[in-house]
Amino acid sequence: MERKHWKRSYGYFPQFLCPRCRKGNLKSTKDKYKREPKHVTIELRDHEMQGEDSEGRFVAMLACSNRICGEIVAVAGDYESHATVDYGPTGQLEMSWDDTFRPNSMHPAPHIITWPKSLTGPPTMHLLVSFELFWVDMAACANRLRIVVEVLLDQLGIPRAKAPGEKGPKHLDLAARIARLGDARPGHEHALNALRYVGNAGSHHGVVDIGDVLDCYELLEDAMVELLEHRRERLNAIAKRINDENTKPKP
Ligand SMILES: [Zn+2]
Repeated sequence: MERKHWKRSYGYFPQFLCPRCRKGNLKSTKDKYKREPKHVTIELRDHEMQGEDSEGRFVAMLACSNRICGEIVAVAGDYESHATVDYGPTGQLEMSWDDTFRPNSMHPAPHIITWPKSLTGPPTMHLLVSFELFWVDMAACANRLRIVVEVLLDQLGIPRAKAPGEKGPKHLDLAARIARLGDARPGHEHALNALRYVGNAGSHHGVVDIGDVLDCYELLEDAMVELLEHRRERLNAIAKRINDENTKPKP
């Protein structure tokens, strides 16, 4: 995960990886962004500087650099521009612009994290929806990540209900399912519970901090690799084999 890529506003967009081919990068130039309405307000700045402030809506088309792909990502949102006029190195008055773009929509949305090929359809679908919601509503995004955890547990064979004969309420809530995963595959309870808590905050309070959502993405990316690709177990087995080979007495 390129954490620095994911913000609420940008001076310019980073070259996000194309969500279609995942090889090319999304490119555009700021002069191609369409901005309306033009120059809503004009302000004079004090002393030797005068500024011009603009704000409004923008739309941009980010194009994949991979020629055989050619995907277009449509971006829309709010923008602000602040122009300042000041004396340049030659003593002439020069104007410079400071732009901020705040996207409210990116479609199809760039992928914030990667995931193992073995991730099945339902968690993949909810993950892709979360990438779109990231720009629309951070709380809804957090809530969708909680759903990713629910369906990931389905893929891992963790039941949603108790077996016949088990005591107590039949339904297993997410906390109980994460605890059951902990019995079978220990080591991921903290990460998945963090996603559960942030998702709950999204549902109950409707406000979630972008930093918490990015933390959740990072935790989820790592948990998926560990749980579906058994990365740590595989590396431990490799290390053990090498150690065994080198500590065995030579014949
Ligand atoms: Zn592409």
